[in-house]
Amino acid sequence: MEQSRHNIIGKIKGSDEYFIINPLTKEADIISEAFAEDLKKGIYEDPDELHAKGYLTEPEEEKRRYRHAYLDFIDARDTDEVQLFYVPTYACNFSCSYCYQEGYDHQSIGHTPEVIDAFFAYIDREFAGRDKYITVFGGEPLLTNANAQANIEYLIAQATARSLGLAFVTNGYHLEHYIPLFEGAFIKEVQVTMDGVAAVHDHRRMLKGGAGSFQQIVRGVDAALEAGIPINLRVVLDRDNMPHLAELADFAIEKGWTDHPLFKTQLGRNYELHVCQAEQSRLYDRVSMYEELYAIIQEHPALLKFHRPAYSLSKFLFEQGELPDPLFDSCPACKTEWAFDYTGGIYSCTATVGKSDEQLGTFYPEVTRKEQIIAQWEDRDVTTIPECAGCSLQLACGGGCGSVAKNRTGKISSPDCRPVRELMGMGIPLYFNEYHQDSPKTLDNQGA
Ligand code: SF4
Ligand code: SF4
Repeated sequence: MEQSRHNIIGKIKGSDEYFIINPLTKEADIISEAFAEDLKKGIYEDPDELHAKGYLTEPEEEKRRYRHAYLDFIDARDTDEVQLFYVPTYACNFSCSYCYQEGYDHQSIGHTPEVIDAFFAYIDREFAGRDKYITVFGGEPLLTNANAQANIEYLIAQATARSLGLAFVTNGYHLEHYIPLFEGAFIKEVQVTMDGVAAVHDHRRMLKGGAGSFQQIVRGVDAALEAGIPINLRVVLDRDNMPHLAELADFAIEKGWTDHPLFKTQLGRNYELHVCQAEQSRLYDRVSMYEELYAIIQEHPALLKFHRPAYSLSKFLFEQGELPDPLFDSCPACKTEWAFDYTGGIYSCTATVGKSDEQLGTFYPEVTRKEQIIAQWEDRDVTTIPECAGCSLQLACGGGCGSVAKNRTGKISSPDCRPVRELMGMGIPLYFNEYHQDSPKTLDNQGA
């Protein structure tokens, strides 16, 4: 027997203890430093127990297990709901301090029902028989000039006629105005970005011309929740606003948003994806952002009421009592996610939409597809990225983001490494201490 290729061993932050997880067998345990040392040296006190959990395995046994898990993953993905992004405009009424779309040409457009018809004709055909929904994205999709609003109304009518769910990604400024227009539609959620309380948010996400947007967005969120529309509040974080995150959490708690069943939150990292940031120093890498968040949560535990960060698999483990299924692919591009824009272009996802060199084809004025490149996106997972083959993190990481990887290496099939070990090292004590202050320190007690 030998150690599984999928064992991940790491140190628990603020403790002498270690964790061991195996995403293939979905086992997780807290172990002592001495135990971790023994494992490193190949000394096993109770090999049968380690074998039962898959930490020790026969190579053939593990290959079989891996193959089955992969087939299950592909089967599940084939029946997953597909998210189809549609960009009705790249124009925006904001001039956010960090907007990547500054680098794009903004053309003003007219009402374009024939493009929307072509979009629906394409998705009706291409995704027939698949569960799917449309996420309207931008630029800012919820603008109030006549053409922009006519486009959205037409899009809503077409989606609703097909019983398709709709989501909107908006800066939230005109959300209140749009709520009556959502009536009768199947609104899955509206994602609104709020980067802090008024003083912080208005400094980062201002209207063109510089006026603040916070109060108007708050009214939109209140009105949406009242109308039964789910809100996903997204905070884009960098070093400028992270120190004020707890204030935003307190604000949301006081407003009663965090107690509302239709309210959830999402933390995003402000990072360089499209155009160069003028001030790289204010950006976090993945580890430093979650380290900072960890420190803030220690001081303001109420922040967890506002948002519960995943810390790789940690949150899932403690909420579900077991690890998730092995993650062979963390990038949905061209599998369960596609993007389309009003110019008739087809793209892999929101990270590539609007970039002419990333276009994968057109749905208007005629249908064209770059099948070879599409196949590269479709095939990208940890079994096809050469660097992932020998990586013990692969079934927790999933190969990361294809677009980030391609920007870095020029190849779709290349890795975007996730700091799984470091994140688990922070997440385990964070959630363990919160839930199980008095429990003995072993993950076995969580049924993992
Ligand atoms: S992307 Fe990097 S960390 Fe993730 S599985 Fe591949 S090699 Fe490992
Ligand atoms: S390329 Fe990146 S942004 Fe696009 S779907 Fe994949 S993970 Fe998401």
